Amino acid sequence: MSAPRTTSLPASPLIESEDRRALREAVAALGRRYGREYFQRKARANQPVEELWSEAAKLGYLGVNLPAEYGGGGAGISELSIVLEELGASGCPLLMLIVSPAICGTVIARFGTEEQKRRWLPGLADGSKVMAFGITEPDAGSNSHRIGTVARRDGQDWLLSGRKVFISGIDHADAVLFVGRTEDARTGKLKPALFVVPRDTPGFEYRPIPMELTAPERQFQVFLDDVRLPADALVGDEDAGLLQLFAGLNPERIMTAAFTLGIARYALDTAVGYARTRTVWDQPIGAHQGIAHPLAQCAIEVELARLMTQKAAHLYDAGDDLAAGEAANMAKYAAGEASCRAVDQAVQTLGGNGLTQEYGLAALITATRVGRVAPVSREMILNYVAQHTLGLPRSY
Ligand SMILES: Cc1cc2nc3c(=O)[nH]c(=O)nc-3n(C[C@H](O)[C@H](O)[C@H](O)COP(=O)(O)OP(=O)(O)OC[C@H]3O[C@@H](n4cnc5c(N)ncnc54)[C@H](O)[C@@H]3O)c2cc1C
Repeated sequence: MSAPRTTSLPASPLIESEDRRALREAVAALGRRYGREYFQRKARANQPVEELWSEAAKLGYLGVNLPAEYGGGGAGISELSIVLEELGASGCPLLMLIVSPAICGTVIARFGTEEQKRRWLPGLADGSKVMAFGITEPDAGSNSHRIGTVARRDGQDWLLSGRKVFISGIDHADAVLFVGRTEDARTGKLKPALFVVPRDTPGFEYRPIPMELTAPERQFQVFLDDVRLPADALVGDEDAGLLQLFAGLNPERIMTAAFTLGIARYALDTAVGYARTRTVWDQPIGAHQGIAHPLAQCAIEVELARLMTQKAAHLYDAGDDLAAGEAANMAKYAAGEASCRAVDQAVQTLGGNGLTQEYGLAALITATRVGRVAPVSREMILNYVAQHTLGLPRSY
């Protein structure tokens, strides 16, 4: 039998530059040194993966997308998504990479004041600071137009009040980038605005939500009760809130695609390795088409979703936010679907071992479902594509 190529097909130089392929290999080597067992141990103890996080930071991987003048690598979301995908493929999917350098780092780098950039970006780039991101609210959910977190002026300060839900990783973050609203002085209408709120700010409380996820990060409910913030807690310009939000959403979707693709590749690699050796009749189970074909189908779907993710990252890095928006939605959808199917099929391939802790697959069933729900659900992406790509009427 030839050596398994499994799911990480070498990218053609037409699709991925030599530098990016070298980055893939280097990150994959780092991920393998830690591996699934390390990640699961941390996840079960709800501890952050500090060792992996700080080593990846020292090697320049965590801030690879952030501007070089603030300590980052000066590359783009293409590179950061490679880091996340490869770590995931080694069994270590780092959710906070989506949030801290990709969403928060991007928004501050693109829209923050000089002071905000100097305060936050070097720490986000070298991993010494982590920033969570809070948009979801209990009474708004997918409908972000309904966000009820509002900031009112009080002299030079802001008073921020509202509730958030499912916010990841607050307990190990230095601050949270919250999406709220401010009142337009001219029209009186509420418009989006983003605020950086340090975790120890009085009036900012958070409580863990018991989740059926085995992950190093927990999700939290947040209560903001007249949280007093200095004027410079507002990111950039008060009138640029919507642009800032969109600037963060494309990297979030592209990175979520990379997150689920890494998981899918880990699952498929494990399943393929198992199917090649596990023998209960006369041949390895991988010789049965009932096992081989679904795995082949998953490998194709994962590879297609990887291509779409690379396209979305390429468009984003080239500055085409509009085209990147459509591609990022499609990539997130495709990767989420491919990943759910790949994990399901991997578990099936291992039979009983698919549900043991030893093989590290069972926890991925819930982990990969996250990619169908967050940051935007499968249905909301279908709504988006139906309306914007196909030009069909909006139904809601
Ligand atoms: C593990 C995890 C981590 C998360 N981390 C963060 C985080 O760090 N920060 C943050 O801000 N949020 C986070 N979230 C929240 C996540 O983004 C939301 O769960 C997601 O946006 C969906 O919102 P909801 O859960 O309120 O679902 P709802 O909006 O209540 O939707 C419920 C169901 O209804 C469907 N639905 C709703 N409207 C429509 C419609 N018009 N047409 C068709 N179907 C519709 C949805 O697709 C979904 O299937 C996280 C969630 C999870 C599970």
